[in-house]
Amino acid sequence: MRVAVVGSGPAGFYAAAALLGADPPVEVDMIERLPTPWGLVRLGVAPDHPKIKSVSRAFERIAEQPGFRFLGDVEVGRDLHHADLVRLYDAVVYSVGAQTDRRMEIPGEDLPGSWAATELVAWYNGHPDYQELDFELERARRVVVVGAGNVALDVVRMLALTPEELGPTDTTDAAIAAICGAGIEEIVMVARRGPAQAAFTTPELAELGELAGADVLVDPAELAGAEPKDTNSERNLEVLRGYAAREPEGKPKRILLRFFRSPVAILGEEQVEGVELVRNELDENERAVPTGERETLDCELVFRSVGYRGVALAEVPFDERSGTIPNDRGRVLGPEGKPLPGVYCAGWIKRGPSGVIGTNKKDATETVELLLEDAAAGRLAAKPEATADAVLDLLAERGATVVMYAGWTAIDEAERGAGEKLGRPRVKLCTWDELRTAAEGASTTPA
Ligand code: FAD
Ligand code: NAP
Repeated sequence: MRVAVVGSGPAGFYAAAALLGADPPVEVDMIERLPTPWGLVRLGVAPDHPKIKSVSRAFERIAEQPGFRFLGDVEVGRDLHHADLVRLYDAVVYSVGAQTDRRMEIPGEDLPGSWAATELVAWYNGHPDYQELDFELERARRVVVVGAGNVALDVVRMLALTPEELGPTDTTDAAIAAICGAGIEEIVMVARRGPAQAAFTTPELAELGELAGADVLVDPAELAGAEPKDTNSERNLEVLRGYAAREPEGKPKRILLRFFRSPVAILGEEQVEGVELVRNELDENERAVPTGERETLDCELVFRSVGYRGVALAEVPFDERSGTIPNDRGRVLGPEGKPLPGVYCAGWIKRGPSGVIGTNKKDATETVELLLEDAAAGRLAAKPEATADAVLDLLAERGATVVMYAGWTAIDEAERGAGEKLGRPRVKLCTWDELRTAAEGASTTPA
């Protein structure tokens, strides 16, 4: 059996592992729009968290198994279409993640200086689609980060790191220069609910307190009466109370964690000049309910970190409300709510943009178990055209150049080699040209 796994993030790799390990093993073509694998492990996880990024070692071992092929620089919707995959493979697993940001739908959201966290994260991690962005960090004195999840904390922390903290990471050189040259004095994280409802986790929160170049400030009044909901929120509250009791040490930057506030407008004529916040109270269901109390906070930049969002693929069912592919435990459902034979999904596009890397293992394994169950029960149509060469022939016909796994390892070696000299894990290649050139000698132009 041959299966196409679309997307090479954690969900794609965990699905591939389950397929390659099946009895009898299944052949996997992993189709990825970038010349590089690993999804958000390379391009989302913060560069100052190298230990987390090292999960890629496990993905490398999966990629080395017989029956696995990486087809990089191949985009479904551009180079290959859903109908091609259905024809050329016994089954397809979509694990394309959540490729855009959730919007807040407030006035001023599109003013210059108002950015999605997704953009900053992709930029500092070297995503080739985001390298032209100029956040104008040098003109920022105060930055507002909206949201209280781990991505919001990543953004707050990355903007507060000192040159000594950023230097040994694989943050792009351009981002290191811009962050170190920024005029930022204060970063304000704004949470719409209370400290007990925050989505971030305690180790990430505690890390803020260890930064060399920033003091963390919390208003004790915003912690008063907070009731922990679970162990995480109990531990968060402990850390937050510690911050509230601290005397600032006069470090160059200040991080303010503020609760019970929602932005109702992003203010400014030509560019961001401030945010208008409303104070919220919680109702009996812990939902934020605005009071009439408003305040304006001057700032030059806003990063909206209120969640990622999945993007529809042509010809593949999509639920606009949740931004996911409608599915039953990974079996993709057609318009009548019935499973589409041979079409599956895993990861963030299956369950929405939440959960850590490991969450995708259970999720992808569940999907593959159903796929194998369907195959064993004869529910997958016979695919006489599903040969290993057929997809490469089609891509060649369409003039697409594929970065095969050897192409990626050439990129990887070039990056690691450049990093080694500087005591960094890697120096990322981050333009399409650089990536394709590094892969060229070793990549396959299907013939
Ligand atoms: P992704 O990792 O997004 O992978 C999807 C892949 O599909 C991408 O490579 C993409 O290029 C590809 N793709 C998309 N569309 C197409 C197409 N049309 N054709 C071909 N390929 C396509 N978890 C932790 O455990 N620790 C952390 O420190 C951590 N940090 C995070 C930081 C950020 C900023 C974010 C956003 C998430 C973080 N997470 C972290 C969560 C973790 O990254 C996710 O749980 C995980 O990456 C989701 O996996 P996925 O495979 O569903 O999606
Ligand atoms: P998240 O955890 O869902 O947090 C989103 C935050 O945005 C929540 O605080 C939410 O508040 C807030 N929000 C949503 N809509 C809003 C609105 N309209 N106005 C104001 N605030 C709004 O999402 P995320 O931070 O993007 O992270 C995604 C996943 O990746 C999470 O599972 C996260 O744990 C994981 N991740 C892990 C790490 C790590 O382990 N180090 C790092 C980064 C990401 P409400 O609660 O009120 O809705």
